[in-house]
Parts: sequence; structure tokens; C-alpha cells
Amino acid sequence: MTHAENAVRTSLNVREAAAAILADVVPLASERLTLADALGRVLARDVVSPVSLPPWDNASMDGYAVRAADVARASGREPAVLPVSETIAAGGAASRALAPGTAIRIMTGAPVPEGADSVIRVEDTDRGSDVVAIRDARDAGRNVRPRGEDLRAGDVAVEKGTVLGPAQLGVLASVGAGSVECHRRPRVGVLATGDELVDVDRFDEVTAGRRIVSSNSYTLRASVVVAGGVPVDLGVAADDRAAIRDRLAHAREAACDLVLTSGGVSVGEFDFTREVLRELGATRRFWRVRVRPGGPSGFGLLGDTPWIGLPGNPVSSMVTFELFARPAIRRQRGERLLFPRPLTVILDEEVTISVPLTHFLRAVLATGDDGVPHARLTGPQGSGLLTSMARANALLVVPLEHHGRGPVRAGETLHALPFGEDALLTRDFAL
Ligand code: AMP
Ligand code: MG
Repeated sequence: MTHAENAVRTSLNVREAAAAILADVVPLASERLTLADALGRVLARDVVSPVSLPPWDNASMDGYAVRAADVARASGREPAVLPVSETIAAGGAASRALAPGTAIRIMTGAPVPEGADSVIRVEDTDRGSDVVAIRDARDAGRNVRPRGEDLRAGDVAVEKGTVLGPAQLGVLASVGAGSVECHRRPRVGVLATGDELVDVDRFDEVTAGRRIVSSNSYTLRASVVVAGGVPVDLGVAADDRAAIRDRLAHAREAACDLVLTSGGVSVGEFDFTREVLRELGATRRFWRVRVRPGGPSGFGLLGDTPWIGLPGNPVSSMVTFELFARPAIRRQRGERLLFPRPLTVILDEEVTISVPLTHFLRAVLATGDDGVPHARLTGPQGSGLLTSMARANALLVVPLEHHGRGPVRAGETLHALPFGEDALLTRDFAL
């Protein structure tokens, strides 16, 4: 037994397993992207603004730029009447400073002329073009957005580690960052293993009762995309050492940053994945996790490339992807927040666990009449029942401490991990 083999840890809990993986995963190098390509990517360097925004004091209303002192006593009965010297459009500028006792017509966003400290909304005036009557003093000293109110030249406009969404892209554009340094997206190899597996184009062998479709190839590649990685299809390997070795070698050629295998990590007679990894000189870090589904999960390094061995059962591979692969992909993408925040939910049915493992049950969350999330199971929870996953919108977490305490009853609370933001959408506008 090699030194690396001695170091393999077994029976970690979920948190320890996730931590063990992240200890070997680092953010990937950066590449320069135009803003049009940067949606969803993670900024690798702070972007500093070279300008102040807004770049000038500007009007927040359509109206008249004036001095507060000249309108301080204006009222409906005694309007302040001022000559209008010119008009400034949003793209324009005043030809000279505002003289005392005069007004300049101004549009929203236009630079407030020197000498003015107020913009009187047009509704409080008679809209005059040569002379204006101002009937209200409420805007005296108001409606001027000061230069640099949003950002000052030299400020960090967007910090590194930020996931770029619409607002961040808008800020970057505003400060002239037409292209930005973002972390590379991880190329994630997905290898399915099993003699019984075919791709969907060989469905006649499924109808003939000899094979099943490698659904994991589809669920895992799609999960990689959802997580913000680039899936690399390593295909399906038969349960023989040479085939698996071959496909894993392909992962190297394809410059994978992370390799996911599914199946072949149980203790069955044809479970060769672990053996082949050993032959390839992989360092194995852990093997088996105290979780259901997903017990036979493993992790190691193939050269420098992290390998996560997911179990073959369709539900197990998806659940362990969420628990172990997704945080690793987030880290490689440069994200700083790696784990989902559990949501507290009220159980609408009783739940029991029969073994001391942390359970992730397929559940449907819905907002109750009380306005808070309620959870129901999707039905039988076998780890081969992929439709239970397809009907679920969340995983309900039953910590191992619940074992032996009897059922968690309807009305009690547990934590759930919703699948994405859509899990608790409502039919009606809820605000
Ligand atoms: P294993 O981990 O290889 O023992 O597989 C456990 C179970 O998952 C078996 O019933 C396999 O047929 C099934 N399985 C393994 N790989 C896949 C896959 N890629 N797609 C669908 N089912 C699979
Ligand atoms: Mg198998």
C-alpha cells in the first residue's frame, strides 16, 4: 500500500467531505472578455473607475435651474418671475453661468449651470420660455444630483470575486471597462461507467431489455452548465480497466480542470474506477461519505486535476454533484460564496430516517397560505428513482442526529436546499 493509499479517509460527514475537496481546489487563471461575453462570469481583478459618476452636477427633473435665494418666497399668490436666458438639453451645456435673478430651462440629466443650486420642477411653473413664473418654493435647494454621487474617480467600481450580472455589467460599461479580466470557466469532464449503459441513440437495446440509457451523462453535463462550467463529454466507459483508463487519459488531452466520474465506485465486482485511478497514480483523499443518497462518493487528484467520484445511481450522482462538485466549480470560477443557504421550511408530512446518515430527500416546496415555505416529499425515495428528482424543486435535509429520535412530525421545521431561485415562485404577485 502506498503512502497515498494510507492517507485515504473514510466515512467523512458531508461538511468534512466538502471541505476536503475545497482544500485541493483553487480559482482558475483569468482571461480578458468583452462585456458582451462576461455575463455570469467572475471578475478576477478590481475595476477602478477613471471618472466620477455622474460626471457633472446634473438636473434630476425637467424644469428651471435657479438660485434658491431667488425663489425662496415664491407662492401661488406671489410667484417669483424670472427671465429665462437659455435652454439646456440632456446632451447640452449652458453657454454661461446663471446670473442672479434669472432662470435657465433645463432637462433631466443636463449639467446644472454654474451659479445654480436648484432645479424647479416644471409642474410648479407656467412653463414660460422667455420669462417664467415660479409658483412654489418647495424645490429651493433641491433636484441637483452632485458630480461623483455614484462613484468618484479612483473608486473601485466592481470588486474582484463579484459574479457579473446585469447591474455589474452596467456599472463596468459606465466606467469605460469595455473588456474585463474574468476567471476562466472550468472545463469539467464527465465520464459515465457501466457495461449496462448506452446513449439514447441506441434506445432499441433498451426496448430489447438489455441496456439502460446513461442518464447521468445528461444530468451531470447539464448540472455543469447550470453551475457555470463547461462540460466535456468523456463518454461512457464499459466496466473494464482499459476502457476507463482510456477515457481518463482523454480527460488530460481535453485539458479538463475537474473530472467527474459516475458509477463504478461501489464495492461491486466490476467497480473498477477506483482501481484504475490508483494505477494512474492518482492521490485518493477520501472514499465514502456519511450521506444518503451518495454514500459511495470519492475524491482524489489525478496529477493536479481534482477528481470527484460520484456514485452511479441517478439520484445519488445528482445529489452528490450539488454537495461536492458544485462548490468546487464555484471555487474554480473564482466565486467567493460557495454553499447554498439552507431555507427553513415547515413539514407538511412526517419524515423518518432509518440509518444514521445525513439524508437529502427529494421534496416539493410551496409557499403556504401563511406566506412561508412548506415541504412535502415527492414520494418514494429510492436512489434510482430519477423522476423523484425531476418532480422535486428542493432537497430536504434530515441531519443524522435525527436518527433514533423517531419521526420528524408534520408542522415541525427542517432545512431545505431549493434548486435555484425558481423553487418558490408564486402564481400571483405576492407583494
Ligand atoms: P454503480 O455505482 O456503477 O454500482 O451503479 C449503481 C446503479 O446506478 C446501477 O443500477 C447502475 O445501472 C446505475 N447507473 C450507473 N451509471 C449510470 C448512468 N450513467 N446513468 C444511469 N444509471 C446509471
Ligand atoms: Mg456500475
